[in-house]
Amino acid sequence: MAGTIVFEPDDRYNAFLSTATAGPQGSGTLSGVMVAVKDNISTRGIETTCASKILKGYVPPYDAHVVGLLKAAGATIAGKTNLDEFGMGTTTENSAFGPTLNPRDTSRVPGGSSGGSAAAVAAGMVKVALGTDTGGSIRCPAAFCGIVGLKPSYGRVSRYGLIAYSNSLEQIGPLGRTVSDVSTLMGVIAGYDRHDSTSQNKPYNHTPKADIKGLKIGIPAEYFGKGVDPDVAAVVKKAIGRLEELGATTVPCSIPSMEYALAAYYVTCTSEASSNLARFDGVRYGPAPDWKKSWHDAFQDVRGSAFGAEVRRRIMLGTFALSSGYYGKYYAKAQVARRNVREDFNRIFRDVDVIAGPTMPTIAFKLKEKSDPLSMYLADILTVPANLAGIPSISVPCGTSQGMPVGLQIMGRMFEDERVVDVAYAYEQAVN
Ligand code: GLN
Repeated sequence: MAGTIVFEPDDRYNAFLSTATAGPQGSGTLSGVMVAVKDNISTRGIETTCASKILKGYVPPYDAHVVGLLKAAGATIAGKTNLDEFGMGTTTENSAFGPTLNPRDTSRVPGGSSGGSAAAVAAGMVKVALGTDTGGSIRCPAAFCGIVGLKPSYGRVSRYGLIAYSNSLEQIGPLGRTVSDVSTLMGVIAGYDRHDSTSQNKPYNHTPKADIKGLKIGIPAEYFGKGVDPDVAAVVKKAIGRLEELGATTVPCSIPSMEYALAAYYVTCTSEASSNLARFDGVRYGPAPDWKKSWHDAFQDVRGSAFGAEVRRRIMLGTFALSSGYYGKYYAKAQVARRNVREDFNRIFRDVDVIAGPTMPTIAFKLKEKSDPLSMYLADILTVPANLAGIPSISVPCGTSQGMPVGLQIMGRMFEDERVVDVAYAYEQAVN
């Protein structure tokens, strides 16, 4: 055990919810490296809140599998980072602790829901961080803050100890300033864990390679169409041109199921959330129920006041989608649409090695700009397809629009995380 390190970040961006004082516990790949951890990932002895009042005072008695791996690799947990409550959002404004600010422009959001992790990396407070990505929550803040973020293939990183939002969609993954840093962190956290029934025995032992000669890149029309800011599209097209100069060829393609992807995503994630969040009742942590009232009234008070508005909205939407009489109309239909998305990707990947496009349709929004839920949901259109299909996807900075960073998104075949990392690395090396 090395000496105790007290981490005191200059946190002007409200990126950290708590900081840790534990010193590194081993030596290895991450010896002496400060890692920030999103506050929906359990850390033994450190309060884990999901940025929700309902978890106030919850101190996990165990580490998430990934946190154990970080410690075993010699990393120091710098602290826990801000997020949209339970991961529900695209801006990190839906937090009981207030919004995180974008270090590139503090009048803007850092993206979400892993906004605290992305801001901590972008501001140089830590080298790397863990986030989670259910529908874009690693890639979106990476794009908005000008850093790199990887959503691994579903099953490659254990979710044991992640406080679940939507189990069938989410993965824990790395954020960092460079592709190499992200790749190194991925090497530490990936691999089989018997505590997660969806875990795959697919460790990641990879050093990024910049050679992409002969690579075939699919360019889906939908990623450059309606709703995508033309200036953002132009920046991303230029970046893809750069990949062509490096020896890749591009092939136009289409993902027709994208028409239903966003709806399928929101029906699925709210349904799973309504069931996951049913367990929070204020009995062991969070605001105590008033036992003088009937249990129905007491729990209604607790859940009605301690969950934020967006979380309550999603619990209600999900409960409705799963209710008898509506199940077939919503949840079952969403699963059909989800299968279509997967089949579209399978078809395209018969002809191409990766698919490229913008990560987000716009640059980072101004704080409070997305005031109605629907316009916020629409911003996820380019990131949710990879979660529905379970495939790996990385966001790498590829220039700016109005002075704000733009992210290039590279999606790959299932379990070909190494390949998307290589393409991002080739681009990064070529422009630096
Ligand atoms: N913005 C999406 C949502 O609100 C994605 C969130 C996430 O990936 N955790 O559900």
